[in-house]
Amino acid sequence: MVFEKPAVQSKQVCVIGAGPSGLVAARELRKEGHSVVVLEQNHGVGGQWLYEPNVEGEDPLGRNPFLKVHSSVYELLRLLTVREIIGFTDFPFLVKNDRDMRRFPGHREVLLYLQDFVEWFGLRELIRFNTRVEHVGMVDYGELGKDLRWVVKSKETITKSDGDDDEKMVEEVFDAVVVATGHYSHPRMPSIKGMGTWKRKQFHSHIYRVPEPFRNEVVVVVGNSNSGQDISMELAEVAREVHLSSKSLDITEGLSKVLENHRNLYLRPQIDSLEEDGTISFVDGSSVVADTILYSNAFPFLDTKGIVSVDDDRVGPLYEHTFPPSLAPSLSFLGIPRKAHRIIGFPFFESQAKWIAQLLSGKRTLPPLKEMMQSIENFYNSIDAAGLPKHKTHDIANFEYCERYGDNVEFPHLEEWRKELFMLTREHKEVNLETFRDSWDEGDEKLLQEAYQSPHFTQLGSQVLTFESQSEHC
Ligand SMILES: Cc1cc2nc3c(=O)[nH]c(=O)nc-3n(C[C@H](O)[C@H](O)[C@H](O)COP(=O)(O)OP(=O)(O)OC[C@H]3O[C@@H](n4cnc5c(N)ncnc54)[C@H](O)[C@@H]3O)c2cc1C
Repeated sequence: MVFEKPAVQSKQVCVIGAGPSGLVAARELRKEGHSVVVLEQNHGVGGQWLYEPNVEGEDPLGRNPFLKVHSSVYELLRLLTVREIIGFTDFPFLVKNDRDMRRFPGHREVLLYLQDFVEWFGLRELIRFNTRVEHVGMVDYGELGKDLRWVVKSKETITKSDGDDDEKMVEEVFDAVVVATGHYSHPRMPSIKGMGTWKRKQFHSHIYRVPEPFRNEVVVVVGNSNSGQDISMELAEVAREVHLSSKSLDITEGLSKVLENHRNLYLRPQIDSLEEDGTISFVDGSSVVADTILYSNAFPFLDTKGIVSVDDDRVGPLYEHTFPPSLAPSLSFLGIPRKAHRIIGFPFFESQAKWIAQLLSGKRTLPPLKEMMQSIENFYNSIDAAGLPKHKTHDIANFEYCERYGDNVEFPHLEEWRKELFMLTREHKEVNLETFRDSWDEGDEKLLQEAYQSPHFTQLGSQVLTFESQSEHC
């Protein structure tokens, strides 16, 4: 019998973020034949590794609207992971003359490695810098037979010759969106006019625990996610008024029943501005005077009609920490497993990116929706059974999981030397916290030899990376 190879489809894909995960996503997507645009709010690539010394004006508790500074890297930070294990599978993290040659280099060396990666694979042309994604929503959601598509609104900041900034809003439609915006555990705040000067209480749902402190208050809950809805219902029992502010006023039957049952709970559109006297104005011109604002969004730009939400650092529902089953593969999240890259380095992102790219092209398919949901439920049950809190959901720190994950896309298993180097480093760190980065023994030496003679390190030959001929590497 002859099986016809399915036609490979090329999609228009938007990747949000040009950190390590967004960069490798762009590379893999393009390799698979998709057309890719990367939107990056910062002026350069690197994500966390793009060090920003100037934190002036940043709220010490990180409560500013859309943190001005993305990176949490501090000046003297050196890698925790030994450099040999970190590199993408086809782009080793080589030691270079006139650069930081230490095995645990400082953050700048990682940035340079990522910049080299960008040049080597010719990715720069795909990236639009100084462009922050402010809204991602579904086009024609719910129309039977229509493929999911996404409208992405972004704000580009252009610095003029006189030093002032101009802002340009751009609205585009894509077949798929890959969210690669880095860690979600840090409370992300939306950007709202007047937020910095609003004198009353405002905080992130990250620290919400019980409704009692809000008794008789007027509370505005920002974000119609699962947690935003849950918290609003709880608050409605004790607060005077609760205003649930949502990017979209399309509501489910469930929410409309809740609104009927709680006469003090109102659905509002997005907030336009906050006034010093406590007034909150919404984009439809209505307003309320509130005591407290509670932000429940973790991906402030993303409107999935409540399908994807973040609850105590659990982003869900996500099949294999990557795909929201009912929206996949059109929407995917890269870099959510919190510790996987710490043990296997950037290759974990690479395996995620490959899977996303091949699902979008139709080369592979995901299991049926029901099966994915069941798998998520089983996983959540296993977390509960192990007595682990929700916020540990994405703490994946074992080689077996990473390898099983990679099997979905025939991603090569980790070389033994990578695993052993990681384990050895961990042992050294436990014993010599202060010196583990600068002293190693015979065991390391042997593994290092093995690493440097392995195909991973020899694949580029003795070639000096000149970055001249980019396309041939893609
Ligand atoms: C202090 C510190 C030490 C670390 N040490 C190590 C280590 O030793 N080894 C290791 O492997 N990892 C380490 N890490 C983990 C590090 O986060 C990862 O290596 C990696 O940077 C994660 O990549 P990412 O692309 O997923 O996210 P990020 O690097 O965070 O990149 C996300 C990108 O998305 C952009 N973005 C966010 N929101 C938007 C938006 N709305 N619109 C447009 N762009 C947006 C950001 O500007 C950023 O460029 C460390 C992290 C920190 C903070």
